[in-house]
Amino acid sequence: MVRAHIDLSALRHNFQVVRNLVGSRSIMAMIKADAYGHGLLRVAEALPEADAFGVASIPEAIHLREIGVTQPIVIMSRFDRAEQISLCLHYQLAIVIHQLYQVEILEQNPPEKPLSVWLKLETGMHRLGLLPEEFTEAWRRLQCLSGIQKPLTLMTHLACSDDPENSFNHKQIQLFHQVTDYFPGPKSIANSGAILSNPETLTDWVRPGIMLYGASPFAGKTGEDLGLRPVMNLIAELIAVRQLRQGDYIGYGADYRCPKDMMVGIIAIGYGDGYPRHITGASVLINNILCPLVGRVSMDMIAIDLTLAPNSQVGNAVILWGKGLPVEHIAKCANTISYELLCQVTRRVEFKSTNHE
Ligand SMILES: *Cc1c(COP(=O)(O)O)cnc(C)c1O
Repeated sequence: MVRAHIDLSALRHNFQVVRNLVGSRSIMAMIKADAYGHGLLRVAEALPEADAFGVASIPEAIHLREIGVTQPIVIMSRFDRAEQISLCLHYQLAIVIHQLYQVEILEQNPPEKPLSVWLKLETGMHRLGLLPEEFTEAWRRLQCLSGIQKPLTLMTHLACSDDPENSFNHKQIQLFHQVTDYFPGPKSIANSGAILSNPETLTDWVRPGIMLYGASPFAGKTGEDLGLRPVMNLIAELIAVRQLRQGDYIGYGADYRCPKDMMVGIIAIGYGDGYPRHITGASVLINNILCPLVGRVSMDMIAIDLTLAPNSQVGNAVILWGKGLPVEHIAKCANTISYELLCQVTRRVEFKSTNHE
């Protein structure tokens, strides 16, 4: 059985790291995509001090309300239909307006009670957001609607905050101030990368995601380097130990050929659990010893070289990522980012909350 131990004390520690960096500014914990794969409800319940939660869609937000979450919840991207207005009012959900068509929906279906709205400015990412002239127009039109809470919260999103030296950051921040300084209301710019590297981005609201889960947004740095603790520990079991001979092949495609007589372990985890299939140079942690993968990743298993851990036995726990083996290292070996690995752990993995103080 593959297990994902979700260390809620690490989560709270990481939240405290954010708190120490941002002082009394408001913190919106980003918990979209099932809290980056950690479990929406357990993460929300473990963060009573979050000033708000950010999700992508209304169903995620309704789940949160149904378990009794009382903080503000902001729908970051997926308000796009008139029917959603009554849900937002009923469950007290805030929406982000990032396109003019959304303003039109509100004008044609004026909310009966005050709806909370964040207005998103396009400053260079060119994904979602209103261009400066559209932003001004949207702001004016929303002022005319009595069913919209005033003032609006004004936000933007940075494209390169994982690269603090990139001058694009400064350009985006400058444009944001240039446009929004004329308007009242709280402002919000910073995600994890910005919170950790750029005090200039710390405005009324910050929006940490990945750092809450203990991973680093920066290439070449781990969460631990930044004082964070990994929240997800992905653990599987050694289910076979085999003595192979020089020249023996391992796994599909007979890709790997033993360069010497060697002890090899088979671990019950594979891409069916969300372990990345395309990966080179990765290791696992068994009895505190790093052992490299050999051969291809299968759906249900992987093979490791046990030369350095000859005392390993069937039944031993193996850490795929987590404490002692940063998910960032595995992500790098898989040519991706920690965000993706954390989000793609599959349903057959058993999730369990733990609390190591
Ligand atoms: C996901 C998201 C964040 C959090 O980003 P991290 O890099 O995980 O900190 C912040 N703001 C918006 C709009 C997001 O979609």
